[in-house]
Amino acid sequence: MNCSGLFELLPNQAAVREQTYTYVDGGHPWKLPSIRCSACGMVWGERGLSYPQIDLSGLKPQKWYKGNLICVMSPEELSVARAPVAAMLPPGYPLPPGTALGPFRGRHLAGTMEDFDFYSGAHLISRSAFDLLHTAGALGVEATPAQVNPRRTGTEIDLLELHLVPRARLAVPRTQDQGQRFCVECGFDQREFPSPLVIARSSIPDKEEIFQLCEGPDYILCTKKFVDGVESLGLRGIEFRPVDSYDV
Ligand SMILES: [Zn+2]
Repeated sequence: MNCSGLFELLPNQAAVREQTYTYVDGGHPWKLPSIRCSACGMVWGERGLSYPQIDLSGLKPQKWYKGNLICVMSPEELSVARAPVAAMLPPGYPLPPGTALGPFRGRHLAGTMEDFDFYSGAHLISRSAFDLLHTAGALGVEATPAQVNPRRTGTEIDLLELHLVPRARLAVPRTQDQGQRFCVECGFDQREFPSPLVIARSSIPDKEEIFQLCEGPDYILCTKKFVDGVESLGLRGIEFRPVDSYDV
């Protein structure tokens, strides 16, 4: 029995197994550059973290922000590139190298559109599902319109990308197996996640129903209120796995 009221959100696993999932090819117009760490030598950028509500069009154009370019900087140069972006976000929003910025744009290439599309790293929800969840009081986080072109002319796709933020933290440390790299200087981290996940209870936000794991933004977590809303409305495209939380 799950007593924590916390769940991991997963894309529809049957569709993943059967390879019938929705495929939307796309990305965000801007991103923070990757870094090259002088301590460990790794070149890396985070994947799975995006702030679609951030608009860089008012900044002096810099090619290092371009979402479709791979730009590599030193950590010192990255801190310069990061500063104007950090000024646009509230405190506490992580901005690791590679953070994607701006509204998602893409094209629907395969599969049937569902209420949610979390298959390829973006956090997309249909406008109708978003409105239903808001009206039901099951979702308070905001969202930014995404521009996704349909496969066929005459059809219309109206998607939003949720404003997810890494909030939850692990209650138990990651473990480092042989060959896995971890750098305290730049934060590059290949260590294993605990299985099953265990979350520090104090890190669960009380005003957001869906959020990410700080140590790994690919992990999406949500509250029972959100799960109940999705299930009572019969929304499709995601499923849930109970996650434990501890006081630490
Ligand atoms: Zn490093």
